[in-house]
Amino acid sequence: MADEQMTTIGRCYGCKRTFSFIPGSVTTVTIDPETGLPPGMTVLGTTREPTPEATARSVKEPICPDCLNKAKQFMHPPAPQFETWQSNPGTD
Ligand SMILES: [Zn+2]
Repeated sequence: MADEQMTTIGRCYGCKRTFSFIPGSVTTVTIDPETGLPPGMTVLGTTREPTPEATARSVKEPICPDCLNKAKQFMHPPAPQFETWQSNPGTD
């Protein structure tokens, strides 16, 4: 038998679906169980310095590939970039 990487079943933090993953290579997100958010992140989506307590009690939750893709899109939105308007015709 070929070597098989041991997979485990866990629940995705994002969509709550169970999925199998390889513990050593799965993407995880650190979650503060008090808030259900990453330590240092507020419910408003802003970040601030996490307290040592929040960091200490935080646990790593696995994220399924679907949510990972969504998260990537969320973190890197195809937003229009602000550029300096070079063309400035008719300054009257
Ligand atoms: Zn998911």
